[in-house]
Amino acid sequence: MSKRALITGITGQDGAYLAKLLLDKDYTVYGSYRRSSTPNFWRLQYLDVHNRVHLLTAELNDSSSLIDTIRVSRPDEIYHLAAQSFPGASFEHPVGYGEITGLGLTRLLEAVRSINKDIRVYQASTIELFGQGNTKPLTEDTPFNPANPYAVAKLYAHWIANIYRAGYGIFICNGIMFNHESPLRGLDFVTRKISNAVARISLGLDNELAMGNIEAKRDWGYAPEYVNAMWRMLQQKEPDDYIIATNEMHTVKQFLQQAFSIVGLDWSKYVKVNKELLRPVDVNFWQGDYARAKTKLGWQPEVKFERLVEIMVHEDVKRWESWLKGVALPWDGYNYISK
Ligand code: NAP
Repeated sequence: MSKRALITGITGQDGAYLAKLLLDKDYTVYGSYRRSSTPNFWRLQYLDVHNRVHLLTAELNDSSSLIDTIRVSRPDEIYHLAAQSFPGASFEHPVGYGEITGLGLTRLLEAVRSINKDIRVYQASTIELFGQGNTKPLTEDTPFNPANPYAVAKLYAHWIANIYRAGYGIFICNGIMFNHESPLRGLDFVTRKISNAVARISLGLDNELAMGNIEAKRDWGYAPEYVNAMWRMLQQKEPDDYIIATNEMHTVKQFLQQAFSIVGLDWSKYVKVNKELLRPVDVNFWQGDYARAKTKLGWQPEVKFERLVEIMVHEDVKRWESWLKGVALPWDGYNYISK
């Protein structure tokens, strides 16, 4: 009998790639999303899985909706990806981030505890837990030191996951994921902001890109590979926490250089650094060490920095070219035409 999975946040980048991966593995896939007046299913349509998943509405601040979702979907595995997920914006909505990104998991785990304690749970934990002050590659044993309200909310969720694992015997894994990107990444995130702007500039639709901290260093991986690691975690005998990273680090400036060079342009002619875009607190060093994931999960990244930038820029150029020809696409770019 095929396994059943529930993905919270199925409309997001990871939710869409994970839905595809699980469908390819013959899972019956349920996905929860928050109801809005304008449906947001473009990523599922882009991957051609929209009609193959069962969609249910759930709000992370509404326990009864989470209980209903679990009752209806009867999952063997829950992948908890839903969250307010943008660190920069968390300074503007710190309470909301705590409610949704932090407490949302507790509501979900209470529902699991009362309905079926055998359900396996994946929690989308994050590199942001480590925050500032690091100079060496980060492992599962590096102390946490979060530097924004999003990271604090995720830290709460990370620890509550460990408490439900130790205290109630629930099989729950924290995937401490480093940044992972793709053409399905939200436009607020720096990589997609760059690939989208590079595409528009190369086609004459824009002539400038405003950036914040371009010296920040990040370890960027490819999202479809990272959702594979999530699935592997839930197939193990025992639950554990895992760093998922590429072990390589690049600056935002290198991302800009690489992205503009793909379309034959010099980045320095188009990029303007705008101090208003700097975060109140930022971190400059993030490099992972995925040794545990390699040993225990047999996971390692294949797509590295240059290939990742190429995939993202090529896809955004293709989208804007189609848009100029009047071809309709499942896509978010046209919402951001005016700055
Ligand atoms: P994403 O694209 O921003 O997706 C987040 C999902 O959460 C969306 O489906 C969103 O729904 C949903 N959501 C937001 N608020 C909600 C609420 N109040 N109730 C119900 N659903 C809500 O994020 P992602 O890149 O796929 O990341 C997936 C998870 O991994 C997130 O928890 C993120 O924090 C974490 N993470 C991501 C990275 C990364 O580099 N991508 C790294 C570490 C950890 P809408 O579509 O309606 O907005």
